[in-house]
Amino acid sequence: MKYLGAHVSAAGGPDQAVLRAVEIGADAFALFTKNQRQWKAKPLTDEAIEAFRTACDKHGFGPGQILPHDSYLINLGHPESAGLEKSRAAFLDEFQRCEQLGLTLLNFHPGSHLKKISEGECLTRIADSINQVLAETRGVTAVIENTAGQGTNLGWRFEHLAEIIDQVDDTSRVGVCLDTCHAFAAGYDLRTPEACTATLDEFDKVVGFAYLRGMHLNDAKSEFASRVDRHHSLGQGNIGLDAFTTLMRDPRIDEIPMVLETVEPAIWAEEIAWLRAQVANT
Ligand SMILES: [Zn+2]
Ligand SMILES: [Zn+2]
Repeated sequence: MKYLGAHVSAAGGPDQAVLRAVEIGADAFALFTKNQRQWKAKPLTDEAIEAFRTACDKHGFGPGQILPHDSYLINLGHPESAGLEKSRAAFLDEFQRCEQLGLTLLNFHPGSHLKKISEGECLTRIADSINQVLAETRGVTAVIENTAGQGTNLGWRFEHLAEIIDQVDDTSRVGVCLDTCHAFAAGYDLRTPEACTATLDEFDKVVGFAYLRGMHLNDAKSEFASRVDRHHSLGQGNIGLDAFTTLMRDPRIDEIPMVLETVEPAIWAEEIAWLRAQVANT
């Protein structure tokens, strides 16, 4: 079963995200549980938590179909102690919000070395950040997203993801979210069915499908291997539709939320319907 959806707005409360997912015919979705551009957020009220859980039950969304994304400000590999502490505190808060909402996955970008520490040191800091938050919470898996490698962001090579996972104590609660735009911009080709399958084989060899907990389905405005992160609507960018047909038909990708972060919310319903048709045509 391929669960398909989009990263919908949670304006008005997390329960509103569920309704927006229903409107576009989704059976998966992503959301921010707080404003993604601010450090601090008011705690979730009991009413907001209850409304979210009720909406999920009513519309048939289990926690395995929902992929919350953390704040863009957090840098779990921050080279300086003040920045690292602030990030770790905010990350713990994100995990606790997921626990309250009954969610079991939290998707995040690994972190950036800011040219102040080595890649290896930064990856170790990221793994330590994950170990700390896993020790302080229960039931939520840390889902590391591959990045485009813009600036000093790590996680653009599959080896980075593997190196982080290697240093995590509880490997049952760490996983990966593969973003197609990020992979393509990082130099993993997806433009033909053969290239797409080869990239997935490479992912399996280096990281392993056992760790795949979610996907972000995006075409790319960015050029191949440009290390620039610019999403586009499916079929309108430099990746093209073949990749998405191939992904929909790959049996290794199953029972995980597959979420659009494409640039035109008005056509999400159409994009989801098209993706579903690719599965059905096998
Ligand atoms: Zn992301
Ligand atoms: Zn993404």
